[in-house]
Amino acid sequence: MSAAAPATPTLLQVRGLSVRFPLRGALGRRAGIVHAVEDVDLDVAAGEIVALVGESGSGKTTLGRAVLGLLEPTEGEVIVAGRRAGSTGEDARALRRLAQPVFQDPYSSLDPRWPVRRTIREPLDAQGIGTPAERDARVRELLEQVGLTEAHADRRPASLSGGQRQRVAIAAALAPRPRLIVADEPVSALDMLVQAQILNLVDDLRRDAELGILFITHDLGVVRHIADRVAVMYLGRIVEEGATAEVFAGPRHPYTRALLEAEALADPARRLTPPRLPGEIPSPVDPPPGCAFHPRCPVAIETCSSVRPEHTRFGPTQRAACHVAARTTTEE
Ligand code: SF4
Repeated sequence: MSAAAPATPTLLQVRGLSVRFPLRGALGRRAGIVHAVEDVDLDVAAGEIVALVGESGSGKTTLGRAVLGLLEPTEGEVIVAGRRAGSTGEDARALRRLAQPVFQDPYSSLDPRWPVRRTIREPLDAQGIGTPAERDARVRELLEQVGLTEAHADRRPASLSGGQRQRVAIAAALAPRPRLIVADEPVSALDMLVQAQILNLVDDLRRDAELGILFITHDLGVVRHIADRVAVMYLGRIVEEGATAEVFAGPRHPYTRALLEAEALADPARRLTPPRLPGEIPSPVDPPPGCAFHPRCPVAIETCSSVRPEHTRFGPTQRAACHVAARTTTEE
């Protein structure tokens, strides 16, 4: 499948990406292959926020790490602003500046001994960007950009709130002027009010700095709030993607529908009664044949257990990989 075409130049291109690991059993013996990401295509444009959603074990974090160049693809490629992700070479060095991570728990990603100023300045020091005076000026600029002040610059993480720590982590990620941010559950450890503040900050940054943002989350409310497009992952594959409004208004894949129905059930203001999916997400070590969702799918047909569905286009931006949904397009 290929991603819905963004309106502005493509910043991130993921093409046919698969990431597999050997699973080691007793005495280090090989016990199988983990199919963490399988044949994923995805684009993110400059100034665009694309949400990657799915349950734990869907492969979204592995995909994010491959985009950052922290994992070597088994197949396929990742290109950020024309640079190919890899572990060595000039492109890999460039990628370390072009694509920056923001993680869920800023407390564990910040060095507890370092004051804020040093944390934000460190990527500039490590990569030799600018003169010492320019680095100091950049730190002041970043503090202001993320809503902190000089008064925060000499404090250590333990004396900051969760939201302030996440602002520091975002400032450090922005320091080398990246083009792409991979944000992995960046607000899930924060309370609702602070979540909204950080989401608004991320939204402002992508506009002001023309950043592309790959936003990994399990929270559809967050997707609704911030993402231009959404890609739904199940067992290593993207099963549906498109403009957030289009996908949420008319999900075509049964898994997307189940996620949205579960979200509606969690909100007492709405009255949808969701069908519960049987079982858990299967192991990526031995994924089911055909459509990997078929053991849990409420509308599966015989073909589903043997033939993997290709993506079908359903609207201006929407695509989904489902045999039954594809039939509806021919009937419409
Ligand atoms: Fe369900 Fe079949 Fe569609 Fe997979 S392809 S989501 S099993 S109907």
